Order: sequence, then structure tokens, then C-alpha cells
Amino acid sequence: MILRTCMFCLAENACEVRFDKKARPYLVCKLCHTRCFLRSLEAVRGLAICPTLIAAAIERRKGEPAFRAWFDGEIGKTITFVNANALTPPVRAEHLGLAAEKTAVPFSFDVSSGAT
Ligand SMILES: [Zn+2]
Repeated sequence: MILRTCMFCLAENACEVRFDKKARPYLVCKLCHTRCFLRSLEAVRGLAICPTLIAAAIERRKGEPAFRAWFDGEIGKTITFVNANALTPPVRAEHLGLAAEKTAVPFSFDVSSGAT
């Protein structure tokens, strides 16, 4: 089991690669409970690179206000898009009875705790 940064909620050490009964890979985040099925080997490319790039971007975000504004703005725009197009209100994991994993480090918009 290799835990990686979740490409969806950006939590550190939260995403695990698992294999289904037919040995097809999929991702499960123990914090946001997203399950993402990788239907081709091409999808593994992103799995290999994205967690490292996300971690680097989160680190860069701590020290560069302009980058932080862009980063947070992109998240905000996407949340607005999803909320505007979703047929139902967003369902949070706790409403489904799923407990958030305590060892995962959730992404926080607050940079004061980890900024250098
Ligand atoms: Zn997640």
C-alpha cells in the first residue's frame, strides 16, 4: 500500500492504489472517499506524476502570493462550476456514514501553519 497525495482533495498520504477482482487499478482516498477507476495504462501516467506536482504546487503556494491567488482561484472556479451544474447538493462523506481517516493530512487553504 502506497499512500500518495490525493489528486481530488489534495490531502497528503490519503490516496491508495488498489486493484479490483480483475486486477484493474483504481484509487481510493481515505479522506474524501473518492474512488477513481483507471481504465487504461495511459491513466497511470498521471498517477505517477500528479501527486508529486501537486505537492510541489502546494509548497510553492505557501511562499508565492500570486501563485496562491491563482491556485485558490482555480479551485474556486471549479467548485462554482460544479455547484452550478450539479443536479443535487454536494454530498459530504460524513453524511454517508464514512469516517475520515485520522492519519491523512487534509489540504488547508491556511498557509500560516506551514509557511516559511
Ligand atoms: Zn481525497
